[in-house]
Amino acid sequence: MNEEIKRAITEKIRSADRVILCRHVRPDGDAVGSSLGFRRALRLSFPEKEIYSIGTDASDYVGFLGSDDPALPEEAYENALVILLDTATPDRAANPFAFTAKDIVKIDHHEDVTPYGSLQWVEPERSATSEMIADLLFSDPDTYKIDLEAATDLFVGIVTDSGRFRYSCTSGETMRIAGRLMDFGIETEPIYSRLFLDDFGTMPYRAYVCGNVRKTENGVLSFYIDQKTQKELGLSREQASDGLLYMEGIRDCLIWLAFIENEDGTIRVRLRSRFVTVNGLASRYRGGGHDRASGATVYSLDEMEALIAEADELLGEYKKNNEGWV
Ligand code: AMP
Repeated sequence: MNEEIKRAITEKIRSADRVILCRHVRPDGDAVGSSLGFRRALRLSFPEKEIYSIGTDASDYVGFLGSDDPALPEEAYENALVILLDTATPDRAANPFAFTAKDIVKIDHHEDVTPYGSLQWVEPERSATSEMIADLLFSDPDTYKIDLEAATDLFVGIVTDSGRFRYSCTSGETMRIAGRLMDFGIETEPIYSRLFLDDFGTMPYRAYVCGNVRKTENGVLSFYIDQKTQKELGLSREQASDGLLYMEGIRDCLIWLAFIENEDGTIRVRLRSRFVTVNGLASRYRGGGHDRASGATVYSLDEMEALIAEADELLGEYKKNNEGWV
């Protein structure tokens, strides 16, 4: 797929002396996996070039994959090729200098709401940007070298963004690419243990979510946590966002929403679903994302209630008009 764009990206990389890989703020496993995996593969493939991965923030969750390079001065961008990964809109770029670069390429698997750069490779049907990077590398074995480290980074990106190959974005191609990455010698048990085990210390927050979860008439689950409670429970921002996961997997409840108060008083919304598409709903509340995994922001508890009511209506309509959901 998209062979021409992939060739064009390779040409841009070939003619650049310095390639700077960037990603979105508050990076998840895919943002980190795709940038570190691509950096490793580019360093192996083009040892004469300067290859960097630069972000302003890191992720504890996938910290075991390694870290970015130290920040570069603005002048370093003048003659650089920036490849911005997994970043749907320019304002989400975790690098203040990304758009000062001589040239920018966008590689992403979110809906292309805001195209940017001289070249865009966007495939919303892909499970992860890491899947696209692996595809790029595999599609031109004369150019690109991969080793276990690069394969592991990309595999982690795919595993995390596809929910361990469970989400509907997982295609046959996802599995084939993941399989080829595994052939580099990936041992899944240590990786899954690092990614998916929880600390015993999460128990109080699980109890909070279970004790405060609400269910609408049509089966939308939601909970709200304010800043004070987050502090009382000793939750980091990343830990607080995990509350969403504690509502997953309840029969008939096809949409679940976490409302997490930010430090500035706004409320971060995380939306997840089975069967039903929720990114349209997210986009009406300053957000967006994938069909079944989106994010948004609301400014008050009243607005939170309005969003929940809309989600309930959406789910009611879906259940009325569709079969086969569970
Ligand atoms: P999250 O719940 O933060 O994991 O986000 C789920 C998906 O929605 C991710 O793929 C994000 O890129 C996307 N997303 C989250 N927040 C926003 C936002 N404010 N605007 C657009 N997309 C978002």
